[in-house]
Amino acid sequence: MHELPITENILSIVCRHAAAGNVTQVVSITLDIGELSDIEDEWMQHYFDYLSKGTVAEGAKLKIHRIPIVLQCNTCEKTFEIEKSMIGKSTCPNCKASGDFSLLSGRQYHIKEMEAR
Ligand SMILES: [Zn+2]
Repeated sequence: MHELPITENILSIVCRHAAAGNVTQVVSITLDIGELSDIEDEWMQHYFDYLSKGTVAEGAKLKIHRIPIVLQCNTCEKTFEIEKSMIGKSTCPNCKASGDFSLLSGRQYHIKEMEAR
């Protein structure tokens, strides 16, 4: 269950931004979330609805965008995107090396946009 701490963190950032920008109501929040983060959109919205009660972000809609998984080959340094199901099974499209990759993108999350009144 990763959604709860991430949702708490996002809410606190949103509230801080809202306070700084004299926002009275946050309408929607666009999030970029890495494909590997194991986040269920529905659960995230559910937690958000619960946690945001009584804050400026109460009732805000989460719009979740997935960021693709990007690996870098440690042999030839080429970067490439892969599907989640291919983790651990992929070979480098450039030099065909396998199993020696660094994860460049796929686990992170951040707030991309915030729509407010
Ligand atoms: Zn390679």
